[in-house]
Amino acid sequence: METPSPEELLTGIQEWVKVESPTSDAGRVEQMMDIVSEIFKGLDCKVERIPGEDGRASHLSVSSPWGGDEKGILMLSHLDTVHPVGTLEDLPIRVEGDKAYGPGIYDMKGGAYLGLTAYRTLAETGWESDLPIRFLFVSDEETGSTTSRKHIEAAGESAKYVLVTEPARDGGKIVTGRQGSARFVMRTQGRPAHSGSRHKEGRSAILEMAKQIERIESKTDYDRNFTVNVGMIQGGTTANTIPENCTASLDFRFRSLDVADEMISWVQNLDSFNPDVTFTVDGGLTRPPFEETQVIRDLFAHAKGLAAEIGFELVGTFTGGGSDGNFLAAKLPVLDGLGVDGEGAHTLHEHLLISSLVPRMRLMRRLMETLH
Ligand SMILES: [Zn+2]
Repeated sequence: METPSPEELLTGIQEWVKVESPTSDAGRVEQMMDIVSEIFKGLDCKVERIPGEDGRASHLSVSSPWGGDEKGILMLSHLDTVHPVGTLEDLPIRVEGDKAYGPGIYDMKGGAYLGLTAYRTLAETGWESDLPIRFLFVSDEETGSTTSRKHIEAAGESAKYVLVTEPARDGGKIVTGRQGSARFVMRTQGRPAHSGSRHKEGRSAILEMAKQIERIESKTDYDRNFTVNVGMIQGGTTANTIPENCTASLDFRFRSLDVADEMISWVQNLDSFNPDVTFTVDGGLTRPPFEETQVIRDLFAHAKGLAAEIGFELVGTFTGGGSDGNFLAAKLPVLDGLGVDGEGAHTLHEHLLISSLVPRMRLMRRLMETLH
């Protein structure tokens, strides 16, 4: 197969974008898995559906017909998006100059499609790469990969390299490091009372939570690359009742596992300020940090050389957001952000840059051809 034109690539990606597939809508994510599965079956690949759990759609594992059990190249993608069904009305599929808009077009249907196409153009030549090529498409990356994590780790066991098709950052940069994350639910339980007649008897769950939040948020330390966010809070029943319950979500981001361990154990062992109010913290590490190791630097240098041959400069960067690459970066050479260039992930101006499609697809294909 000839290298597809930018128009052909874009048309293929747009077909996938039309199938809106938020993580929570298992039926629609399943439909995406069907589409991708059919394409790989047509390429003689070994295709396996890993059943979904906890209401999530299934995951899709694909292996090239060559290479047997040898450790290979793992292409990691997700087919779920953050946008609810109906976003196509607010973010219609359209092209303005070099920008092509649509929900999930950048994060990451574009990258997933390019990965598949890189493989297809290689397989159709009849030439077999040194290493077997395997793909894992997961259904729940956008909600923290809670059901796919074990399958990602298992796929890592038979991988020599991992290429993640998440979108590029800041003008085509690929990702060689990411923050790790931890998530918690905090709960306080106090004593309800009428705020007029029995104020003295009440113990406010909201007041306790407010104090805890202030204490925990004060731990944000940019120099140490540790940040805290309480992103949601809920509590109380009426304006004139001292609230019995309050719940809040807590999100930690960090660059090193040492800092993570220290802060996770700190928050899990906090006492309540008011001994009459209980304070509990449930949760823990969701994604370990993706630290740039020597093998990652080596793989990046190789990719940079390939990009130069194709005709563009590849730059690596560190980013705050996590991805499935985080699960494998401590053990394997991982390159992330190999997907399309663009902007606006998770927003209503999400778009890819059409000019990035062919070069990024060719880079993935050259990696498949040259890694050994
Ligand atoms: Zn993504």
